[in-house]
Amino acid sequence: MKERSRTCDVCGNVSEAELCRVCADPRRIRSVICVVEDAKDVPAIERTREYRGLYHVLGGAINPIRGVGPDQLRVRELMGRLSTGEVEEVILATNPNIEGEATATYLARMLSSMEVPVSRLASGLPVGGDLEYADEITLGRAFEGRRRLNAPRP
Ligand SMILES: [Zn+2]
Repeated sequence: MKERSRTCDVCGNVSEAELCRVCADPRRIRSVICVVEDAKDVPAIERTREYRGLYHVLGGAINPIRGVGPDQLRVRELMGRLSTGEVEEVILATNPNIEGEATATYLARMLSSMEVPVSRLASGLPVGGDLEYADEITLGRAFEGRRRLNAPRP
């Protein structure tokens, strides 16, 4: 095992260059960002072939017991990406467990001040589970059925 992995300058995904394969791909839809906890969630979502946007890897989930708060996650970087005004949708794809839900709730509140639609993956994912281990059909349906968390733009 070679331990030479670095992370993408934009999204925090594993990468061998400044930009990961997703960020460097000109065919990806750049106005949609899917927020995941871990870089391992990216290949899980890619397998569904439902998603053509970009990612943002948080590097974990809010977990007060372990002392993980928003400052330990790549939340500031996410806000920076949204401040450009090019993003038209944020999909919160944190894990369907307590920490993942807490993280999604926190981010939805943070993003409520911005004029960008925020949605959360639909239920159907195994509760208490890990996105990484969801099969692609279940995960694909969760994407299709994602629900809006904030009010639509007037
Ligand atoms: Zn990237």
